[in-house]
Amino acid sequence: MKKKVIITGTGLGGLSSGLLLQSKGFDVHFIEKNNLPGGRLNRLEKDGFIFDTGPSFFSMSYVFTDFMKLCGVEMPFRFIELDPLYSVHFAGGRSYRLHKDISKLAESFKDIEPDFEAKMERYLKKSGHVPYCGGDG
Ligand SMILES: Cc1cc2nc3c(=O)[nH]c(=O)nc-3n(C[C@H](O)[C@H](O)[C@H](O)COP(=O)(O)OP(=O)(O)OC[C@H]3O[C@@H](n4cnc5c(N)ncnc54)[C@H](O)[C@@H]3O)c2cc1C
Repeated sequence: MKKKVIITGTGLGGLSSGLLLQSKGFDVHFIEKNNLPGGRLNRLEKDGFIFDTGPSFFSMSYVFTDFMKLCGVEMPFRFIELDPLYSVHFAGGRSYRLHKDISKLAESFKDIEPDFEAKMERYLKKSGHVPYCGGDG
């Protein structure tokens, strides 16, 4: 008989734990206090506007791709790379576009962070290799 596991909370943490445990043969059950799964990964709709209550995009897509492989699940969707990743708009009209490409990012921040590209390259070099470095992210 399968061992039964009860997970409290159906945010990304609970759901991914559940998926992994189920792929290892456990009988997984969830308890959720809200009327929807997803936790912070949800949305609110008001007066025709839609607000993300949490994440809007994957910043480390390879973690998800590797996790799906680990659980033996076929990728349920295809990633689309965004450029810019997102834009930030401040009162008064200032806007910044966030890019993955460092040269483009430097261009976006040129008025407030001179020599951005060289500083960023230095920072990345100093940080060295990240411990997790799989996939396509
Ligand atoms: C504004 C914002 C933007 C973000 N943007 C990004 C992004 O762009 N990319 C990204 O990767 N991450 C982003 N994050 C982070 C990401 O949302 C969180 O890391 C992730 O959703 C957290 O998941 P979790 O399962 O740990 O917690 P939660 O999502 O908080 O899930 C916890 C769940 O447990 C339930 N629960 C709690 N207590 C009980 C109880 N006693 N009984 C039953 N159920 C209970 C809750 O109702 C909830 O469903 C963002 C977060 C926020 C707030």
